[in-house]
Amino acid sequence: MIQIDEEKIFSTISERNPRSVALDGPDGIIKKIQNCAEKVRDEFNIPVYIIGDTSWGSCDLNIHAAEMLGVDILFNIGHTISMESFGNKVIMVDAFDDIDFSKIAKKCAVELKKKNFKIISLATISQYIRSMQNVKEVFESHGYEVVIGRGKGHLNDGQVFGCEFYPVYDTKDHVDAYLFLGQSIFHSASIAIVTQKPTFMLDPYFNEYSEISDIARKLEKKAILAVYKAQDAETIGIIIGLKEGQFAKIKALELKRLLEEAGKKILLIAMTEITDERLLSFEGIDAFIQVACPRIGTDNHFHKPVLSVPQAISLIKLLKGEPSQEFLQIKHWL
Ligand code: SF4
Repeated sequence: MIQIDEEKIFSTISERNPRSVALDGPDGIIKKIQNCAEKVRDEFNIPVYIIGDTSWGSCDLNIHAAEMLGVDILFNIGHTISMESFGNKVIMVDAFDDIDFSKIAKKCAVELKKKNFKIISLATISQYIRSMQNVKEVFESHGYEVVIGRGKGHLNDGQVFGCEFYPVYDTKDHVDAYLFLGQSIFHSASIAIVTQKPTFMLDPYFNEYSEISDIARKLEKKAILAVYKAQDAETIGIIIGLKEGQFAKIKALELKRLLEEAGKKILLIAMTEITDERLLSFEGIDAFIQVACPRIGTDNHFHKPVLSVPQAISLIKLLKGEPSQEFLQIKHWL
Protein backbone atom coordinates (compact mmCIF):
# COMPACT_ATOMS: atom_id res chain seq x y z
CA MET A 1 0.00 0.00 0.00
CA ILE A 2 1.23 3.51 -0.84
CA GLN A 3 2.27 5.48 2.24
CA ILE A 4 2.57 9.25 1.84
CA ASP A 5 5.05 10.93 4.17
CA GLU A 6 2.29 13.03 5.77
CA GLU A 7 4.54 13.76 8.73
CA LYS A 8 6.72 15.88 6.45
CA ILE A 9 3.69 17.83 5.18
CA PHE A 10 2.38 18.46 8.69
CA SER A 11 5.74 19.47 10.16
CA THR A 12 6.50 21.80 7.21
CA ILE A 13 3.14 23.55 7.62
CA SER A 14 3.63 23.86 11.38
CA GLU A 15 7.07 25.42 10.87
CA ARG A 16 6.25 27.78 8.00
CA ASN A 17 2.67 28.72 8.85
CA PRO A 18 1.52 29.20 5.22
CA ARG A 19 -1.73 31.01 4.33
CA SER A 20 -2.62 28.27 1.83
CA VAL A 21 -1.00 25.19 0.28
CA ALA A 22 -1.44 22.96 -2.77
CA LEU A 23 -0.93 19.21 -3.13
CA ASP A 24 0.12 17.66 -6.41
CA GLY A 25 1.10 14.18 -7.59
CA PRO A 26 0.63 11.43 -10.16
CA ASP A 27 -2.83 10.19 -11.15
CA GLY A 28 -2.20 6.77 -9.57
CA ILE A 29 -2.23 8.18 -6.03
CA ILE A 30 -4.78 10.97 -6.44
CA LYS A 31 -7.22 9.33 -3.96
CA LYS A 32 -4.47 9.23 -1.35
CA ILE A 33 -3.67 12.87 -2.05
CA GLN A 34 -7.35 13.75 -1.66
CA ASN A 35 -7.42 11.99 1.68
CA CYS A 36 -4.25 13.80 2.76
CA ALA A 37 -5.74 17.18 1.68
CA GLU A 38 -8.76 16.56 3.91
CA LYS A 39 -6.49 15.85 6.89
CA VAL A 40 -4.45 19.02 6.28
CA ARG A 41 -7.62 21.12 5.88
CA ASP A 42 -9.09 19.78 9.13
CA GLU A 43 -5.86 20.16 11.10
CA PHE A 44 -4.77 23.63 9.98
CA ASN A 45 -8.00 25.25 8.76
CA ILE A 46 -6.33 26.84 5.72
CA PRO A 47 -7.26 26.56 2.00
CA VAL A 48 -5.76 23.35 0.57
CA TYR A 49 -5.86 22.97 -3.21
CA ILE A 50 -5.42 19.66 -5.03
CA ILE A 51 -3.84 20.21 -8.45
CA GLY A 52 -6.00 18.10 -10.78
CA ASP A 53 -3.73 18.35 -13.83
CA THR A 54 -1.22 15.65 -14.73
CA SER A 55 2.06 15.50 -12.86
CA TRP A 56 4.29 13.04 -14.68
CA GLY A 57 7.46 13.58 -12.71
CA SER A 58 9.87 16.11 -11.31
CA CYS A 59 9.78 17.57 -14.85
CA ASP A 60 6.12 18.42 -14.39
CA LEU A 61 5.69 20.25 -11.09
CA ASN A 62 2.78 22.59 -11.97
CA ILE A 63 4.53 25.57 -10.39
CA HIS A 64 2.52 27.95 -12.60
CA ALA A 65 -0.67 26.53 -11.03
CA ALA A 66 0.70 27.18 -7.53
CA GLU A 67 1.56 30.74 -8.55
CA MET A 68 -1.87 31.39 -10.03
CA LEU A 69 -3.48 30.06 -6.85
CA GLY A 70 -1.12 32.18 -4.74
CA VAL A 71 -0.22 29.33 -2.39
CA ASP A 72 2.85 29.60 -0.16
CA ILE A 73 3.82 25.92 -0.46
CA LEU A 74 3.31 23.37 -3.24
CA PHE A 75 3.78 19.81 -1.97
CA ASN A 76 4.73 17.48 -4.82
CA ILE A 77 3.93 13.96 -3.64
CA GLY A 78 5.27 10.67 -4.98
CA HIS A 79 8.19 11.78 -7.14
CA THR A 80 11.07 11.05 -4.79
CA ILE A 81 14.29 12.38 -6.26
CA SER A 82 17.65 13.29 -4.84
CA MET A 83 16.44 16.84 -4.06
CA GLU A 84 14.16 17.82 -1.16
CA SER A 85 12.80 21.02 -2.68
CA PHE A 86 12.73 23.33 -5.69
CA GLY A 87 13.16 26.99 -4.77
CA ASN A 88 11.23 28.21 -1.79
CA LYS A 89 7.82 26.99 -2.86
CA VAL A 90 8.04 23.33 -3.91
CA ILE A 91 8.59 20.62 -1.29
CA MET A 92 9.08 17.06 -2.53
CA VAL A 93 7.20 14.49 -0.43
CA ASP A 94 7.91 10.73 -0.54
CA ALA A 95 5.18 8.19 -1.26
CA PHE A 96 6.56 4.68 -0.87
CA ASP A 97 4.81 1.39 -1.53
CA ASP A 98 5.36 -1.02 1.36
CA ILE A 99 4.62 -4.15 -0.70
CA ASP A 100 7.00 -7.02 0.14
CA PHE A 101 9.23 -8.21 -2.72
CA SER A 102 10.76 -11.15 -0.76
CA LYS A 103 8.62 -13.88 -2.32
CA ILE A 104 9.08 -12.86 -5.95
CA ALA A 105 12.77 -12.10 -5.36
CA LYS A 106 13.36 -15.63 -3.99
CA LYS A 107 11.46 -17.23 -6.88
CA CYS A 108 13.39 -15.18 -9.44
CA ALA A 109 16.77 -15.77 -7.77
CA VAL A 110 16.23 -19.56 -7.89
CA GLU A 111 14.94 -19.68 -11.47
CA LEU A 112 17.49 -17.29 -13.00
CA LYS A 113 20.26 -19.65 -11.85
CA LYS A 114 19.39 -21.71 -14.94
CA LYS A 115 20.45 -18.80 -17.12
CA ASN A 116 23.85 -18.68 -15.46
CA PHE A 117 23.72 -14.98 -14.58
CA LYS A 118 26.40 -14.19 -12.01
CA ILE A 119 26.22 -10.40 -11.68
CA ILE A 120 22.82 -8.72 -11.70
CA SER A 121 21.84 -5.11 -11.23
CA LEU A 122 18.70 -3.71 -9.60
CA ALA A 123 16.76 -0.68 -10.76
CA THR A 124 13.42 0.82 -9.87
CA ILE A 125 11.26 3.93 -9.64
CA SER A 126 10.73 6.20 -6.66
CA GLN A 127 7.95 4.25 -4.95
CA TYR A 128 10.03 1.05 -4.52
CA ILE A 129 13.45 2.53 -3.69
CA ARG A 130 13.16 1.30 -0.11
CA SER A 131 12.64 -2.28 -1.31
CA MET A 132 15.96 -2.48 -3.15
CA GLN A 133 18.08 -3.38 -0.15
CA ASN A 134 15.85 -6.31 0.75
CA VAL A 135 15.90 -7.67 -2.83
CA LYS A 136 19.68 -7.20 -2.94
CA GLU A 137 20.07 -9.34 0.19
CA VAL A 138 17.81 -12.09 -1.20
CA PHE A 139 19.87 -12.35 -4.41
CA GLU A 140 23.16 -12.21 -2.52
CA SER A 141 21.99 -15.06 -0.30
CA HIS A 142 21.53 -17.08 -3.50
CA GLY A 143 25.13 -16.43 -4.58
CA TYR A 144 24.71 -13.54 -7.00
CA GLU A 145 26.82 -10.42 -7.05
CA VAL A 146 24.36 -7.53 -6.94
CA VAL A 147 25.17 -4.07 -8.28
CA ILE A 148 23.12 -0.93 -7.66
CA GLY A 149 24.22 1.83 -10.02
CA ARG A 150 25.08 5.28 -8.65
CA GLY A 151 22.47 8.01 -8.96
CA LYS A 152 23.21 11.29 -10.74
CA GLY A 153 21.37 14.58 -11.17
CA HIS A 154 17.85 14.07 -9.79
CA LEU A 155 18.26 10.29 -9.63
CA ASN A 156 18.93 8.32 -6.44
CA ASP A 157 21.08 5.17 -6.56
CA GLY A 158 19.33 2.53 -8.68
CA GLN A 159 16.54 4.89 -9.70
CA VAL A 160 15.49 5.48 -13.31
CA PHE A 161 13.07 7.88 -14.97
CA GLY A 162 11.39 7.15 -18.28
CA CYS A 163 14.06 9.27 -19.98
CA GLU A 164 17.07 9.19 -17.63
CA PHE A 165 19.12 6.08 -17.00
CA TYR A 166 22.51 6.86 -15.42
CA PRO A 167 22.50 4.05 -12.80
CA VAL A 168 21.86 1.35 -15.42
CA TYR A 169 23.84 2.85 -18.27
CA ASP A 170 26.95 3.23 -16.14
CA THR A 171 26.86 -0.42 -15.01
CA LYS A 172 25.93 -2.11 -18.28
CA ASP A 173 29.41 -3.34 -19.13
CA HIS A 174 29.80 -5.08 -15.76
CA VAL A 175 26.51 -6.95 -15.28
CA ASP A 176 24.78 -9.92 -16.90
CA ALA A 177 21.16 -8.83 -16.45
CA TYR A 178 18.91 -6.13 -14.98
CA LEU A 179 16.03 -6.66 -12.59
CA PHE A 180 13.45 -3.91 -12.43
CA LEU A 181 11.36 -3.75 -9.26
CA GLY A 182 7.71 -2.90 -9.96
CA GLN A 183 4.99 -3.26 -12.55
CA SER A 184 6.15 -0.69 -15.10
CA ILE A 185 6.78 -1.91 -18.64
CA PHE A 186 7.33 1.77 -19.49
CA HIS A 187 10.46 1.89 -17.31
CA SER A 188 11.73 -1.69 -17.62
CA ALA A 189 11.54 -1.69 -21.44
CA SER A 190 13.65 1.43 -21.62
CA ILE A 191 16.30 -0.20 -19.38
CA ALA A 192 16.45 -3.10 -21.87
CA ILE A 193 16.80 -0.66 -24.78
CA VAL A 194 19.48 1.47 -23.17
CA THR A 195 21.60 -1.41 -21.86
CA GLN A 196 20.83 -4.06 -24.52
CA LYS A 197 21.01 -6.59 -21.66
CA PRO A 198 18.43 -9.19 -20.57
CA THR A 199 15.96 -7.28 -18.40
CA PHE A 200 13.34 -8.74 -16.07
CA MET A 201 10.41 -7.04 -14.38
CA LEU A 202 9.60 -8.28 -10.85
CA ASP A 203 5.91 -7.88 -10.05
CA PRO A 204 5.30 -8.36 -6.31
CA TYR A 205 1.51 -8.07 -6.64
CA PHE A 206 1.10 -11.11 -8.92
CA ASN A 207 4.27 -12.78 -7.59
CA GLU A 208 5.66 -13.21 -11.08
CA TYR A 209 8.55 -11.96 -13.14
CA SER A 210 8.83 -11.57 -16.90
CA GLU A 211 11.59 -10.90 -19.39
CA ILE A 212 10.87 -7.61 -21.06
CA SER A 213 13.40 -7.68 -23.88
CA ASP A 214 10.91 -8.56 -26.68
CA ILE A 215 8.63 -5.67 -25.77
CA ALA A 216 11.68 -3.40 -25.69
CA ARG A 217 12.78 -4.49 -29.17
CA LYS A 218 9.30 -3.63 -30.53
CA LEU A 219 9.43 -0.19 -28.92
CA GLU A 220 12.90 0.40 -30.31
CA LYS A 221 11.86 -0.67 -33.83
CA LYS A 222 8.87 1.66 -33.65
CA ALA A 223 11.18 4.55 -32.73
CA ILE A 224 13.58 3.72 -35.60
CA LEU A 225 10.70 3.40 -38.09
CA ALA A 226 9.37 6.84 -37.15
CA VAL A 227 12.78 8.34 -37.95
CA TYR A 228 12.84 6.72 -41.39
CA LYS A 229 9.28 7.89 -42.11
CA ALA A 230 10.19 11.46 -41.15
CA GLN A 231 13.01 11.48 -43.71
CA ASP A 232 10.54 12.23 -46.51
CA ALA A 233 8.74 15.04 -44.69
CA GLU A 234 8.82 18.39 -46.52
CA THR A 235 7.48 20.39 -43.57
CA ILE A 236 8.23 19.47 -39.96
CA GLY A 237 6.54 20.99 -36.92
CA ILE A 238 8.91 21.42 -33.96
CA ILE A 239 6.90 21.43 -30.73
CA ILE A 240 8.15 23.19 -27.61
CA GLY A 241 6.47 21.71 -24.52
CA LEU A 242 5.20 24.29 -22.06
CA LYS A 243 5.59 22.23 -18.86
CA GLU A 244 8.30 23.97 -16.78
CA GLY A 245 10.69 21.04 -16.49
CA GLN A 246 10.29 20.05 -20.14
CA PHE A 247 10.74 23.50 -21.67
CA ALA A 248 13.58 23.37 -24.24
CA LYS A 249 13.28 26.34 -26.60
CA ILE A 250 17.03 26.53 -27.25
CA LYS A 251 17.12 22.87 -28.29
CA ALA A 252 14.10 23.47 -30.57
CA LEU A 253 15.85 26.40 -32.28
CA GLU A 254 19.04 24.37 -32.71
CA LEU A 255 17.11 21.52 -34.37
CA LYS A 256 15.28 24.06 -36.54
CA ARG A 257 18.60 25.41 -37.84
CA LEU A 258 20.04 21.96 -38.54
CA LEU A 259 16.90 20.74 -40.30
CA GLU A 260 16.61 23.90 -42.40
CA GLU A 261 20.22 23.37 -43.45
CA ALA A 262 19.14 19.86 -44.51
CA GLY A 263 16.38 21.36 -46.68
CA LYS A 264 13.32 20.99 -44.45
CA LYS A 265 10.65 23.65 -43.89
CA ILE A 266 10.03 24.18 -40.17
CA LEU A 267 7.07 25.50 -38.21
CA LEU A 268 7.51 26.19 -34.49
CA ILE A 269 4.62 25.20 -32.24
CA ALA A 270 4.23 25.56 -28.46
CA MET A 271 1.76 23.52 -26.39
CA THR A 272 1.31 21.94 -22.97
CA GLU A 273 -0.37 18.59 -23.68
CA ILE A 274 0.98 16.98 -26.87
CA THR A 275 -1.68 14.54 -28.09
CA ASP A 276 -2.62 13.04 -31.46
CA GLU A 277 -5.95 14.85 -31.29
CA ARG A 278 -4.24 18.25 -30.95
CA LEU A 279 -1.72 17.52 -33.69
CA LEU A 280 -4.46 16.49 -36.14
CA SER A 281 -5.64 20.13 -36.13
CA PHE A 282 -2.47 21.18 -38.00
CA GLU A 283 -2.47 21.05 -41.80
CA GLY A 284 0.45 20.70 -44.20
CA ILE A 285 2.85 19.27 -41.63
CA ASP A 286 4.27 15.86 -42.55
CA ALA A 287 6.05 15.03 -39.28
CA PHE A 288 6.62 16.50 -35.83
CA ILE A 289 9.56 16.73 -33.47
CA GLN A 290 8.76 17.44 -29.85
CA VAL A 291 11.46 18.56 -27.44
CA ALA A 292 9.39 17.98 -24.27
CA CYS A 293 9.09 14.42 -22.92
CA PRO A 294 10.94 11.87 -25.10
CA ARG A 295 8.36 9.19 -24.36
CA ILE A 296 5.43 11.03 -25.93
CA GLY A 297 6.02 9.74 -29.46
CA THR A 298 7.29 6.27 -28.57
CA ASP A 299 4.60 5.33 -26.05
CA ASN A 300 1.47 6.85 -27.62
CA HIS A 301 -0.29 6.44 -30.94
CA PHE A 302 0.04 9.27 -33.46
CA HIS A 303 -1.12 9.42 -37.07
CA LYS A 304 2.10 11.15 -38.15
CA PRO A 305 5.69 10.55 -37.01
CA VAL A 306 6.38 12.36 -33.72
CA LEU A 307 10.09 12.28 -32.92
CA SER A 308 11.89 12.96 -29.66
CA VAL A 309 15.25 14.76 -29.49
CA PRO A 310 17.42 11.60 -29.92
CA GLN A 311 15.25 10.57 -32.85
CA ALA A 312 15.58 14.05 -34.38
CA ILE A 313 19.36 13.86 -34.06
CA SER A 314 19.25 10.48 -35.76
CA LEU A 315 17.09 11.98 -38.53
CA ILE A 316 19.60 14.78 -39.11
CA LYS A 317 22.40 12.21 -39.37
CA LEU A 318 20.40 10.18 -41.88
CA LEU A 319 19.70 13.30 -43.96
CA LYS A 320 23.45 13.90 -44.05
CA GLY A 321 24.01 10.30 -45.16
CA GLU A 322 25.53 9.23 -41.84
CA PRO A 323 24.51 5.96 -40.13
CA SER A 324 22.56 6.24 -36.88
CA GLN A 325 20.60 3.37 -35.40
CA GLU A 326 21.79 3.28 -31.80
CA PHE A 327 20.40 6.64 -30.80
CA LEU A 328 18.48 5.28 -27.78
CA GLN A 329 21.49 3.56 -26.19
CA ILE A 330 22.39 6.70 -24.26
CA LYS A 331 22.15 7.86 -20.63
CA HIS A 332 19.52 10.53 -21.11
CA TRP A 333 16.97 10.63 -23.92
CA LEU A 334 17.13 14.40 -24.25
S1 SF4 B 1 10.05 10.41 -19.21
FE1 SF4 B 1 8.93 12.28 -19.61
S2 SF4 B 1 7.56 12.50 -17.83
FE2 SF4 B 1 9.20 11.04 -17.26
S3 SF4 B 1 10.79 12.29 -16.29
FE3 SF4 B 1 11.30 12.13 -18.48
S4 SF4 B 1 10.40 13.96 -19.41
FE4 SF4 B 1 9.43 13.70 -17.41
